[in-house]
Amino acid sequence: MAAIKVGVVSSPSWAFIDVETGPVQPRGQGMSYAHRVTGGRAIRLQDFDPDEDAGLNREQAEAKLVKLGQEIVELQELLYAAGETAVLIVLQGMDTSGKDGTIRHVMGSMNPLGCDVAAFKVPTESELAHDFLWRVHARTPGRGRITIFNRSRYEDVLVVRVHGLVPRDVWSARYDQINHFERLLADSGTLVLKFFLHISKSEQKERLLEREQETTKAWKLSVGDWQERRYWSAYMRAYEDAINNCSTSHAPWFVVPADKKWFRNLAVAETIVEALKPWKRPWRARLEEIGREERTRIEEMRKNERRKSERKGA
Ligand code: ADP
Repeated sequence: MAAIKVGVVSSPSWAFIDVETGPVQPRGQGMSYAHRVTGGRAIRLQDFDPDEDAGLNREQAEAKLVKLGQEIVELQELLYAAGETAVLIVLQGMDTSGKDGTIRHVMGSMNPLGCDVAAFKVPTESELAHDFLWRVHARTPGRGRITIFNRSRYEDVLVVRVHGLVPRDVWSARYDQINHFERLLADSGTLVLKFFLHISKSEQKERLLEREQETTKAWKLSVGDWQERRYWSAYMRAYEDAINNCSTSHAPWFVVPADKKWFRNLAVAETIVEALKPWKRPWRARLEEIGREERTRIEEMRKNERRKSERKGA
């Protein structure tokens, strides 16, 4: 049975009511181009077509993206002004899946004053001397801000698992630890959206070969990317487990068809807009409240000044 999610806006967390639980949210229920994983039943990545485009062509998708970009700007402004809620966007995907491109296209329109990007690479010595969430927690957004994670805590159950960098019992305990961490973020007013940019193995090959041909992309060339391809199936299993074990109502995963870059951008942008839209009303209400409080203070200040000058004049 398909899942229907109803957003409620009364509390600063992902408050979704499960009506019926199935593996993914169906089309036509709000968020549509990306597949929202409900956590109700396990998904298999092979069931999602990376080349999907919802019957749109590039032109149509780009026109929609422009409109969504405008909505994102407006939503970000409100989020910033209300200063109550934080937004954490996690981008994960195989090499060349388009994490950088998504940041450029979807978040490019945002006001940089209220937006941060954090990239998580091979941990430093100091990072390794701490628990795996230490470096991640330090970069989470404060209220009113949006932070985009280019890779994240999930590397600690992906590359770390695939290459056996820590024993099984250590990485397998991390799913619960991540869920607790995301619960803490949500309870503290952070909306968490996690995107898996789903490309096919053949599309990745094309993109890697393309990089070799383009001098402007030479900085992206890495022998490691070709070596990691050998572990493709192990990565897919690790991704499936991460998505299935850590899809919660307060920190959902979205599988994004990413073979077509323009569709990927559209799907991510649409998901962000649909996730933030229900917050418009409470953010506006908070803004009005802030306005009322400040106007009262200004009134009081004026009254005090009037009294002072009357006393002086008496
Ligand atoms: P990107 O591919 O994100 O543009 P890099 O080429 O520098 O940037 O790759 C970052 C590398 O860091 C990736 O191979 C990724 O798997 C690795 N990495 C990130 N987090 C961890 C981690 N916790 N443990 C081991 N490797 C990690």
